Amino acid sequence: MPRRNRPPKKNNQQADELRIDSRVFGIEIAEVWSDGNWIVRRITGSAATKNYRCPGCDHEIKPATPHTLIYLEGYLDERRHWHTACWERDRKLHERLED
Ligand SMILES: [Zn+2]
Repeated sequence: MPRRNRPPKKNNQQADELRIDSRVFGIEIAEVWSDGNWIVRRITGSAATKNYRCPGCDHEIKPATPHTLIYLEGYLDERRHWHTACWERDRKLHERLED
């Protein structure tokens, strides 16, 4: 029986990047806030291969450190890597301010 699987159709570059990201980084959660939908991904230590600077505390996130990737929905280019604790503290702070 002949098998002729077509290669997957190429979409634009951002769609490719999204697919790659979801394979590397795993599950993402959408958090709905008053300033938009934030996509939150838990990055495992094995997926963390670079140094990042956490915007919450201005300290480095070293490779192999589990952390959190966040971006405003539709703004993947603006994504930021946070320490998970820093992100949760920051969002709780915002939540209180909005009350
Ligand atoms: Zn931090």
